[in-house]
Amino acid sequence: MAVLPITVLGAPILREETVPVEVVTDELRQLAADMLETMHVADGVGLAAPQVGRRERLCVVEVEETLLTLFNPEIVARDGRIKWEEGCLSIPNTFGTVDRSAQVTVRAINEHGAPIEITADGLLGVCLQHEIDHLHGKLFIDHLSFLKRRSVLATWEKEKGRYPNLVRIFGPGGTEPEPTTEHATEQRI
Ligand SMILES: [Zn+2]
Repeated sequence: MAVLPITVLGAPILREETVPVEVVTDELRQLAADMLETMHVADGVGLAAPQVGRRERLCVVEVEETLLTLFNPEIVARDGRIKWEEGCLSIPNTFGTVDRSAQVTVRAINEHGAPIEITADGLLGVCLQHEIDHLHGKLFIDHLSFLKRRSVLATWEKEKGRYPNLVRIFGPGGTEPEPTTEHATEQRI
């Protein structure tokens, strides 16, 4: 297991389309395990492959008791609307309220190569939509109004100087401060 660097806004890969996975290999299972470990260290609830510099259509999600490794996830049904305050591990310390579907049904392939279908609402439903967006080069800031987006990007302007190489690096000598005992109230996905 390894903690991977997390790409931040400005890294081109965050804006690229991912490539569907044809076969879930041991190498891809290892990548998913590394992504989960990275997500835990970064105190997030979801992470998509472009956030660790990879183009496979893969994301991991962990919300309360639900832990999911999803290859080629796609939303096949939506219901209702909900507003949710979101952040993103790739845009640290920056938050905005996004209009999402209240409930989604997602089809994907799991880490064993088996098809799965999940219907979720609340944080899990929002997290699935956020991660699947990442797999198509889309970020939560794209959903904001022009004015709100401008304000969020102004916050990011002050933050981004901490990441000259457009990555967050965890561990000694990295870009991240030592973990604190305080727990962030915002969910970072
Ligand atoms: Zn994100």
